[in-house]
Amino acid sequence: MDMKTDITRLVRANIRELSPYSTARDEYQGSLGVFLDANENPYENGYNRYPDPRQTKIRERLSEIKGMPVENIFTANGSDEAIDLLMRIFCTPGKANIVAISPSYGMYGVSAAINDVQLREVPLREDFSLDADSVLAACDSQTRLVFLCSPNNPSGNALDRSAMLRIIRESGCMVVIDEAYADFSSQGSLRSLVKEYANLVVLQTLSKAWGLAALRLGIAFADSSVVKLMGMVKYPYNISKASQEAVLKALEQPVDGQVKVIVEERGRLAGVISAMDFVMKVWPSDANFLLVKVEDADRLYEFLIGEGIIVRNRNRVRSCAGCLRMTVGRPEENDALIAALEKYSKQRKG
Ligand SMILES: *Cc1c(COP(=O)(O)O)cnc(C)c1O
Repeated sequence: MDMKTDITRLVRANIRELSPYSTARDEYQGSLGVFLDANENPYENGYNRYPDPRQTKIRERLSEIKGMPVENIFTANGSDEAIDLLMRIFCTPGKANIVAISPSYGMYGVSAAINDVQLREVPLREDFSLDADSVLAACDSQTRLVFLCSPNNPSGNALDRSAMLRIIRESGCMVVIDEAYADFSSQGSLRSLVKEYANLVVLQTLSKAWGLAALRLGIAFADSSVVKLMGMVKYPYNISKASQEAVLKALEQPVDGQVKVIVEERGRLAGVISAMDFVMKVWPSDANFLLVKVEDADRLYEFLIGEGIIVRNRNRVRSCAGCLRMTVGRPEENDALIAALEKYSKQRKG
């Protein structure tokens, strides 16, 4: 796709013609005055007024942190809301299809199924690298969205930048790059490219590195026309005032120190675990988890539960047979994981 191609033709006709709900707070945004416009309870308790529907303060703060213009930033109730909005903006139910890499994040397929949109899964190569040719081959005239996830969940690897760029340039579709784990990776984000490619959407989230999973704050970087469409289709007050306030406060505290420790611990865990006798492979990770292939994944999974440690069993996921996904925890939690794995190794032999 050429630079700055008009993406209007990819938008569902009913969405192109939508006149969105206009909130009382959209129409007037002063700080003084007597507010008798929204049928709120007038007695102040901190939450009696509807919150800012545009999350302006958060977007301004994210603009500073991420070095992106506010007009290119959409904030969602978790990345999951952004995924669903994109589905509803671009995919006509019963007609459109989406293309997603496999294995990858489960929500792309769930959201597609809810919206009655066909999912076409394109396997990654055996080493989990991205094959741009097979992704492009899976796209046809009804493909509206292509989902890539980098670093990918559950494989952990960052995808090749030039392969992703080829798909952005050649697919003729909206390309969504889910960068939920970008903060743990040395490969840079693609977010600044949304200024060049109107068909690119880059998703990030405060749920992982920022440690705010419970507040539900996802970020979509996109062309301003796409940000506008997402603003039209979302629920007017998609992020509560309590969340907005807590997010703003949390964004004042950098998390670089925690991320550095997690990345160091990832290296330590990978080294120790890969030397264990029942471990066949620890996949290289750009994220805050390790995909570990072992001799009997179900048995180890149950053993770890017995030791009070929950990991994610990916044994029945395509290309992940024999694999468990282990999140990197605090150093003492990782020590507990290592101790349990050593105990398992001894018990197996005995
Ligand atoms: C965890 C995760 C997310 C985060 O979703 P939120 O709704 O923002 O919490 C998004 N994408 C991937 C691939 C993830 O693993």
